[in-house]
Amino acid sequence: MRVAVLGGGFQGCCIALSLAMRGIGVTIFDRGDRLMSRTAIANEGKIHLGYMYAADPSLATAKTMARGALAFGPFIARVLERPQSAFVTSQPALYAVHRDSQHDADKAIAYLMKTHELIGGQAHGSREDYFGQDLLRPLEVWDKDRIAAEFDPDVATAVIQTPEIAIDPISLMTEMRARIVDDPRIELRLGHEVESVKDAGDGFAVEGRNPHGAFREHFGQVVNALWEGRLAVDAKRGLLPERPWLHRLKYGINIKGPGGDRNPPSCTVISGPFGETVNYPDGTIYLTWYPHCVTALSSAVTPPHWNTHPEGEAGRDIVRATVSSMAKFILKLRHLSEADVATAQVKGGPIFAWGRTDIDDPASELHRRYEIGIHSQGGYHSVDPGKLTMAPFFADACAERVLATARECATS
Ligand SMILES: Cc1cc2nc3c(=O)[nH]c(=O)nc-3n(C[C@H](O)[C@H](O)[C@H](O)COP(=O)(O)OP(=O)(O)OC[C@H]3O[C@@H](n4cnc5c(N)ncnc54)[C@H](O)[C@@H]3O)c2cc1C
Repeated sequence: MRVAVLGGGFQGCCIALSLAMRGIGVTIFDRGDRLMSRTAIANEGKIHLGYMYAADPSLATAKTMARGALAFGPFIARVLERPQSAFVTSQPALYAVHRDSQHDADKAIAYLMKTHELIGGQAHGSREDYFGQDLLRPLEVWDKDRIAAEFDPDVATAVIQTPEIAIDPISLMTEMRARIVDDPRIELRLGHEVESVKDAGDGFAVEGRNPHGAFREHFGQVVNALWEGRLAVDAKRGLLPERPWLHRLKYGINIKGPGGDRNPPSCTVISGPFGETVNYPDGTIYLTWYPHCVTALSSAVTPPHWNTHPEGEAGRDIVRATVSSMAKFILKLRHLSEADVATAQVKGGPIFAWGRTDIDDPASELHRRYEIGIHSQGGYHSVDPGKLTMAPFFADACAERVLATARECATS
């Protein structure tokens, strides 16, 4: 049996590797001219442990993220055959409660503490759980003096140190690409726009267009991991969800900071339309901030093919507005010079989530990120990772489902 994986983003690549490691031949289809050229490389690489989801007090989102985060390091260490300590990760994140937060400081701290307890319950207690971090160590709540050394204390009403890290997506995706190209069980169909998947005999026909014209290839099973292209292909199989969804175009900014202690700390600002800084060891700072970095919304089945790399004045406007908003209360961002800001790079991608309204609506379904994962119709599997964090977890789950489906077909 050969399996088609639609979408060569991080989710599709993880699924392909997971299948190949189980001895299954895979063909990856992507319309780009190389793997992982869209959302997979546009994100800040945060491996979410669940601390960000205070708007879901049921803790279902936190539980889902923690499960994904704890599977992430072991998965990439296994497929890339390197210890977790060999990957480039950021300084662990502070969580800062903004004075305009949708939850006051006491509520936010209580949520973080409960989430931390939950993570401790899911972890094995080893440094191999999550990039060398000690997940059993209690969270540290900063005192006023420490807050005032890094933030405007009138804006940051509480600051909590967490063990949550980000992984440098560019170096991770570069390694993943090389690993896939070297795998004899994986074939690539780049420059292939997938349009539909049809039942064909005892399997499926993947149809679409490539630079030479129309193509049609036959497979035993198909996995749809197309992210913003996923719903369009599902819809043609009668699988369009009945609930509302939203695609948001979100940008992030990479700036080379002064480095060392002069760089701002990694910090996630909660809860609501705020953003974060990520501080990498080579001095690179990643910034993203609402509303400047979220520039378009679409509830269409197929969102517009948004420009993910705004250049010239459009890019510079996003950088200036973001740095100036964030520097109002993250003090070390004031160390960035005009030259630093001028060399900043802006890149982004679409984010798919359930709900009709954006993050500024505390009641939006967008805050509940646990209704994600794999939906199967026989040997056709559609995967919504929800977050980068979840891709390795769903990759192994999807590979197991493909194997189970193949066993069922063999015995029926
Ligand atoms: C700015 C930003 C920051 C983010 N930060 C984080 C974070 O810190 N932590 C986190 O966990 N998540 C984060 N996310 C979300 C995360 O990046 C995504 O959930 C995840 O990358 C999506 O999966 P993917 O990598 O497979 O998507 P993609 O990389 O977009 O892969 C989908 C692939 O399918 C291809 N494709 C689409 N349609 C078709 C078609 N019809 N035919 C052929 N090919 C097609 C595309 O070319 C693409 O390569 C962020 C997202 C953004 C935009």
